[in-house]
Amino acid sequence: MTKTDTLLTNAIVLTMDENFHIFEPGAVAIQNDHIKAVGSQSELLSLYEANQIVDCQGKIVMPGLINAHTHVPMALMRGLADDLRLDVWLMGYMMPVEREFVSPEFVHLGTLLSCIELIRSGVTCFADMYYFEEDVAKATAEAGLRAICAQSVLKFPSPDAQYFEESLSSAREYIQRWKGHPLIIPSVAPHAPDTCTEEILRLCSALAVEFDVPLLTHLAETAQEEENSRQEHGMPVIPYVKKQNLFDAKVTAAHCVHVDEGEILTLLHHKVGVAHNPSSNLKLASGFAPVSAMIDAGLNVGIGTDGPASNNDLDMFEEMRLASFIAKAVTYDPTVIPAQTTLTMATIMGAKALHIDHITGSLEPDKRADLIILDISPLHNTPRFRRENHGLYAQIVYAAKSTDVTDVMVNGQWLMRDRQLTTINEAELLKQAENYARIIDTFLIQREQSVLSKLVAIGGATETESFEIQAKARVLDTSPILTAISSPELEILHHRHYHEYDTYFSFENSEQEYLRYREDEYIDEKGQVSNIRYRLTLLGPAREDHFPSDVLLSRSRFIAPATHSLRFYREYFKPSGETFIEKDRLRWRIIFKGTEFYINLDQVTEPDMGYFVEVKSRTWSKRDAEHKAEMGTQLLQFLGASLDKTVTQDYIEIISPKN
Ligand SMILES: [Zn+2]
Repeated sequence: MTKTDTLLTNAIVLTMDENFHIFEPGAVAIQNDHIKAVGSQSELLSLYEANQIVDCQGKIVMPGLINAHTHVPMALMRGLADDLRLDVWLMGYMMPVEREFVSPEFVHLGTLLSCIELIRSGVTCFADMYYFEEDVAKATAEAGLRAICAQSVLKFPSPDAQYFEESLSSAREYIQRWKGHPLIIPSVAPHAPDTCTEEILRLCSALAVEFDVPLLTHLAETAQEEENSRQEHGMPVIPYVKKQNLFDAKVTAAHCVHVDEGEILTLLHHKVGVAHNPSSNLKLASGFAPVSAMIDAGLNVGIGTDGPASNNDLDMFEEMRLASFIAKAVTYDPTVIPAQTTLTMATIMGAKALHIDHITGSLEPDKRADLIILDISPLHNTPRFRRENHGLYAQIVYAAKSTDVTDVMVNGQWLMRDRQLTTINEAELLKQAENYARIIDTFLIQREQSVLSKLVAIGGATETESFEIQAKARVLDTSPILTAISSPELEILHHRHYHEYDTYFSFENSEQEYLRYREDEYIDEKGQVSNIRYRLTLLGPAREDHFPSDVLLSRSRFIAPATHSLRFYREYFKPSGETFIEKDRLRWRIIFKGTEFYINLDQVTEPDMGYFVEVKSRTWSKRDAEHKAEMGTQLLQFLGASLDKTVTQDYIEIISPKN
């Protein structure tokens, strides 16, 4: 008789080994952190003398589920913003809240909350990528779960780094400190191709290779990402990141929704593991990953929940069911991704996709003791047919619920016994989570109160105020104006020709405020578009002062390059109204009697409003404003505009007058 620590008996043992051995009644012998033997109960009882014998009461003993892609600290942002497009959700809500709140304490609490959910639902190992990842690692180790914890690196300022160099160097130090830990595999995560630069992708890959740790990333998640890649790099995402040597590392790529046959072969060739996230892809409407084609090709595809803010739970039983059902529906073939394959994806194939199948993923001698006990006797999972063993896989994947998990062991340590957690105090953490929710609520309520604060939240730009003197008049004939401009009384500093497409957003609760999205085409001397620029301007409240001859003092409170699409701003700001104006603009910067002015000669073509001449000048003081107002009137007259044709409204106000 050989001595061993623990012997699990009276179980249906599902090994998920290469030959899918099932033992019933079966037993598992555990010594310290690893599995010593798996086999029939009678055999193991005759071979081993255990310090502790656990009677599993006919339940299933199987490898713990592997959540191949998540962002566990985001448990604290679950339900914060939903039903939005990926870019609006990420750039408009997640990232601004993260910049404001994410700290080592936040990450620690969020991770522990997720660990509770993961343990309760039978997960023994997960792959995470987030900020302050060392704190994710600490909390995970505290909870006793196994995880690949990857420090995120991206080109934007993040909660834990102003510049990517900082996150990269902290990733290096963190990997050095944690490499060889019994539970945590430290790793690095370049966030995604379009949130990283080529340099970031290369440096992250080199770092992962140097320390021989896995590399986690998001690839080909949305059609938009694919389109951007084709436009910016002239090729799809997969060949683009390959070109940056990303696949030199042991990569696990989340999503891979938009990949074709050739790209699947590229992934296969470079032994890239894929993490399929059915709930997240459904909720963010990213599309349907070609899971069955990937598996047929020989790729290792694991299943992940993605973060709890885009799912919104960490329930791997739900993910398994969806992974199988969606694959069937999108291929019109109910035979693809059968239950056994699905459970493989959530266990041993997931481990392979994460490059850790030598440690975990199946119940085999010398692997770590990462296992769960599952009760398949509840009403929703009865009766049981014993005609063939395969029925068990269907019971687990199609009928079992995460709440049927009764016991969880990781690395030979019980994390849950008979549904009681052994490592985490749940009640205290829930209270802290509620406190965070109240603080974040307050922050967002304040932000949503004004267009300006919403702008600042996503812009990374600060509020700027510029005061302007402006006067405008309708003109019927432009030739006298052109003649006046070329006269020697005006010194021309600069001349430009633009074609402008303006979309004005209006807002119900802010009568005088407009947000203008402007596409400016620069027209060269040959009449060709030589450059395009996109700008965002918050206009109003329009009037600061009104001088004689309809000269106005106004201010524009925010102007910045528009880095997102018009569609993004529309979905983020949710304007109550939208107006489009197209015009041709000749613009001069001139000096008139010692004062600098801009002259705009506009032809508003959409809607057809005819010609206008506008004079403008920046100003900083009341006295200067009065002086420039007087000069502006003179300039208008000099240009031949008649003062009884002046207009005080912006084009948008002429078209859609408010009040
Ligand atoms: Zn993700």
